[in-house]
Amino acid sequence: MPIVADIHHQYRRALEALEAGVHCLRLNPGNIKNPDHIKTVAREAKDRGVPIRIGVNGGSLHPDLYRKYGDRVTPEAMVESALQEIAYFDEVDFDLIKISVKASSVPLMIEAYRQLAEVTDHPLHLGVTEAGPPPIGTLKATAGMATLLAEGIGDTIRYSLTADPVEEAKAGRQLLEVMGLRERRNVDLIACPSCGRAEVDVFTIAQQAMEAFGEREIPLQVAVMGCVVNGPGEARDADLGIAAGNKRGHLFVKGQNVMVVPEDEMVETLVEWAEYIQEHGADAALERASSTRDAARRAAEEDRDRNLDERGDDANDAEAVIAGIRRGSG
Ligand code: SF4
Repeated sequence: MPIVADIHHQYRRALEALEAGVHCLRLNPGNIKNPDHIKTVAREAKDRGVPIRIGVNGGSLHPDLYRKYGDRVTPEAMVESALQEIAYFDEVDFDLIKISVKASSVPLMIEAYRQLAEVTDHPLHLGVTEAGPPPIGTLKATAGMATLLAEGIGDTIRYSLTADPVEEAKAGRQLLEVMGLRERRNVDLIACPSCGRAEVDVFTIAQQAMEAFGEREIPLQVAVMGCVVNGPGEARDADLGIAAGNKRGHLFVKGQNVMVVPEDEMVETLVEWAEYIQEHGADAALERASSTRDAARRAAEEDRDRNLDERGDDANDAEAVIAGIRRGSG
């Protein structure tokens, strides 16, 4: 496991960390300010081939820059801090660096990274510092980092959450997976938001499915849908899915109905078929269901027709809801 020593205030601690064999250093330009000290550390790191992260932080900006920019933390001040530090490293011909300009304000960090990416080709390490506890901390960090990653900015990431570090690592992996920047390892569970047509408690079933799949290494997209009227169609691109209807679950593979199971077996059926598809592929799963597919399709049609008969075309009573909203806002 690589060790990164995060050093503040005392440059001698950085030298000691290098001596102790750390794999990377982080220096904060806001509180290790003496250029000679910085260059001493850079020379030592260079001799040992140890990379350094220049970790500018909006909350501990160099006081001179803070004053220069009107007693405010601005993206320009953060970028200038990073460039000053890079210049010291350039003087000793050390370029094994990456840079971060983190802030707890999402708009501030986004703009700082954008400006930094314009003026340097060094790798950038992204983060929203002191983001706080989940879920809002996760949301803030995701908003900032996902925006930048979508623009092609960023080489490494860190979730700084007030939570178990395992949660930070998990969030980081999931962000890269949903951004398509890393191969998916676990199930991508999609589920409908539920509505007046739902025939099952979608929130509970989806939660149970999330827990049942847990950390199983099944990189498939699996759908949990509340009704058989729209569910199979809306989730037709999923590898596998289940839609509720008439106290039973309609299982479908690649949009094709394959079998019907009692409602209380929906989750375990999903897991079992996901494992089968993972091992044998979707075509083999369709083949496996060759004797039940026709009956499953007919059952789905029956339940769809029944739902439509009972709930009509407007299961959500949309006109009445809209009228209520208008009355409330008028
Ligand atoms: S129509 Fe069916 S699938 Fe779509 S949100 Fe409503 S219950 Fe879910």
